[in-house]
Amino acid sequence: MSKVLIIGGGAAGMMAGVFAARNHHEVHILEKNEKLGKKVFITGKGRCNVANACDTEELFLAVMSNPKFLYSGFYSFGPQDVMNFFEEAGVPLKVERGNRVFPQSDHSSDIIRALERELKKAGAKIHLHTAVKEIVKESAADSETENKSESNSGNNSTDVATAKLKNKAEKADGKEKEKITGVILEDGTFMEGDAVIVATGGFSYQSTGSTGDGYRFAKELGLKVTDISPSLVPLKTKEDYIPKLQGLSLKNTGLTIKNGKKVLYEDFGEMMFTHFGVTGPMILSASAHIGAKLAKAPNGEMSAYLDLKPALTKEQLDARILREFEAGQNKQFKNVIGVLFPSSLTPVMLELGGIPADKKIHDISREERQHFIDLIKAFPFTITGMGEFKEAIITKGGVSVKEINPGTMESKKISGLYFAGEVLDLDAVTGGYNLQIAWSTAYLAAQAIQ
Ligand SMILES: Cc1cc2nc3c(=O)[nH]c(=O)nc-3n(C[C@H](O)[C@H](O)[C@H](O)COP(=O)(O)OP(=O)(O)OC[C@H]3O[C@@H](n4cnc5c(N)ncnc54)[C@H](O)[C@@H]3O)c2cc1C
Repeated sequence: MSKVLIIGGGAAGMMAGVFAARNHHEVHILEKNEKLGKKVFITGKGRCNVANACDTEELFLAVMSNPKFLYSGFYSFGPQDVMNFFEEAGVPLKVERGNRVFPQSDHSSDIIRALERELKKAGAKIHLHTAVKEIVKESAADSETENKSESNSGNNSTDVATAKLKNKAEKADGKEKEKITGVILEDGTFMEGDAVIVATGGFSYQSTGSTGDGYRFAKELGLKVTDISPSLVPLKTKEDYIPKLQGLSLKNTGLTIKNGKKVLYEDFGEMMFTHFGVTGPMILSASAHIGAKLAKAPNGEMSAYLDLKPALTKEQLDARILREFEAGQNKQFKNVIGVLFPSSLTPVMLELGGIPADKKIHDISREERQHFIDLIKAFPFTITGMGEFKEAIITKGGVSVKEINPGTMESKKISGLYFAGEVLDLDAVTGGYNLQIAWSTAYLAAQAIQ
């Protein structure tokens, strides 16, 4: 039995805690917030898209960074395992459009409560208001020094910590693997442990507690951390007609993003206009694909187009419009096209359509009609920027997966040091995949601890 210290009581920390405790380890979850799972609570707009009920093979296509690293994780604890886990823990689930899995209750709190119940049932100890300041390791040289210092100092736990810290730099012969000995809490207390799982999350929505501490711990321990950037973010746009559409949500829309003349990304789904640009599931996923390419694009801009009627070809759309026109030959253009769009979109379509709003239908030329159809099939806007960390669903980058054993989540350099969840250089598009990464990596870490 090992003493396992888990830093962070978010998605990964709670799941790791359940499995480590079920394996009869002494588990301590150290969470700096006043409660567990603050970020999980806001997932899926409070409904928690807990997984994606796709085939395990398909999961890899949704992962943006280092999908191959997740092979063991996804095959050891995949979507079906996650669903079984929560159903067995008393949370009935449902599958919605795009295989998105939610609790039937539509309450993320049910997911958190189930994890808390399982943690308590398995005997894990939960320490709230407990922030970890530092992770302590010792090398072979330290253990010799430690023996001396412990016998000299009367075994005071803080003195031991100081001794260990002091000796951190003294490596044995450079070949011996260093070992974790515990953590130092914010108040200076040293907490001894045989294994430490870092599940501190990323750097986005910092009010939920994910303030990037795990990156600092990793760097201090000599591990490589890749550059981080916000991902799954809203996009900023240039045109002044976009803010006029603020609040308008479109369910079935096509999206094409071009970098110069090259089509960079195409998708279909749900989006929303805001006072500064566009957001919604389809846009967030697009942001993960655009990523750093936007800054390098000509003028730092990309052109984008919405297909407002993706179910119709241009010919079918023309036939549809002609039917409306025939029924209202003597009406003004503005009074006929309203049936085609949500009311807030109509004024903008009139503004961009090139046909005077009061023009009589029978006076509209074929060219004018074709131009209007082109607008419906390719409603244009310019992407000028990405959202910031405070509004990012996920952090791209993190502890380099090259540092980590993909079958155990243990550091290759330091034994007893494990990482799970968003702190790692792993991220996926929306749809329940990011929580799947947290569950799978947490499971592997918990199962690997001897
Ligand atoms: C608005 C929003 C909606 C989302 N919706 C979904 C969704 O529906 N489906 C999906 O799959 N993903 C979703 N995500 C992403 C998902 O929430 C994260 O990927 C996931 O929570 C990561 O889990 P984690 O355990 O790694 O980190 P977190 O859940 O962020 O947990 C990290 C925990 O560590 C604690 N901590 C940090 N540093 C310390 C320290 N030094 N000492 C002690 N404790 C510390 C924090 O307080 C926090 O509780 C959403 C994200 C956001 C922001």
